[in-house]
Amino acid sequence: MGDVTATAGPQPRARVQAMKEYHPPLGCRDALRLDFNENTIACSPAVREVLSQISAGDLTRYPERETVEAQVAQHLRVTPEQVLLTNGVDEAIHVLFQTFLDSGDELLLPVPTYTMYEVYASATDARIVTVQAGDDLVFPFKALLDGISPRTKVIALANPNSPSGSVITREQIITIAQRAPHAVILVDEAYFHFYGETAIDLLNSIPNLVVARTFSKAYGLAGLRVGVLAGSAEQMKWMRRVISPYSVNSVALACIPAALNDTDYLNWYVGEVLAARKEFESAIDAAGLRRWSSQANFVLAYIGSEHRDFVRRMNSAGVLVRDRSNDPGCDGCVRVTIGTREQMRLAAEVLKEVIGLMRNGKEKEA
Ligand SMILES: *Cc1c(COP(=O)(O)O)cnc(C)c1O
Repeated sequence: MGDVTATAGPQPRARVQAMKEYHPPLGCRDALRLDFNENTIACSPAVREVLSQISAGDLTRYPERETVEAQVAQHLRVTPEQVLLTNGVDEAIHVLFQTFLDSGDELLLPVPTYTMYEVYASATDARIVTVQAGDDLVFPFKALLDGISPRTKVIALANPNSPSGSVITREQIITIAQRAPHAVILVDEAYFHFYGETAIDLLNSIPNLVVARTFSKAYGLAGLRVGVLAGSAEQMKWMRRVISPYSVNSVALACIPAALNDTDYLNWYVGEVLAARKEFESAIDAAGLRRWSSQANFVLAYIGSEHRDFVRRMNSAGVLVRDRSNDPGCDGCVRVTIGTREQMRLAAEVLKEVIGLMRNGKEKEA
């Protein structure tokens, strides 16, 4: 026997040891959850009907995603070979990075952006190259173009972006894809329904483009975990090798067609959110806070050095909001998910009260 010490168990890869832990806040079920950008009401009643019909027999079988992939493909007007269903967009990001990011490669990432790009990239041997947005949090287009190198392998673009809600134009996406033909351009359209513009129709003319969609946001199915990747049949073929064949479960697969077909419900929810966003933006303005222009179901506001106090006060008044101060360039910022008008009128009342109390406290101190 060699020199085996009791404390030294199997050690993970160096890259894994260097990874940061990611702890999303634990949800309080009774509060108004405006901290995850979820649908704040429920999914379509048609989906609930499907859920109530699922039998024990349905659960004994391994899931088959092909038929549902074909339906999603038809919905997106691409071929089934161009579509891959995933366990949420999070798995899509993981699979895409595992497929393409090798040692010596670079992930080019405009920041601030969605946290999980960095989390999954840090588990690969690639280098992460970030491009910081300015104070306006507008997409740093020129700086991103300058950041493209022969080693750039993936460029991850959330459109609309989180936490800012800013967008990238179609022309900018085309230019980036042309300047980096050796890289996969991931356009993450998690918030597509609130924005209305897509790059999916570019897939046939831009072979290095991959678009992601999710059922977690507008559709109200975050708990089911379903995401979609769409790209050229060639790229999808590689990713199909990497992904688990059963990562999308049969309950989720059963619900997708009903979710896709109930466009009335989706349009109603999106319309409600857009109307509520307009009202809530006015409430932020009236409170004298700076905010960023958003094309998604959330708004980023500047609270300043008292951001922690603000979030705590909002939470204890029953409105959960998300502190984004740790995001690069977002010190003092808080993100608020937009729900229905009724919910957001309540949230606006609480916001007004909390800001009032904080200002009063300051005056008394002074
Ligand atoms: C919420 C979000 C996702 C996560 O989607 P899932 O399908 O729930 O994994 C992906 N990308 C962005 C930009 C998001 O905000």
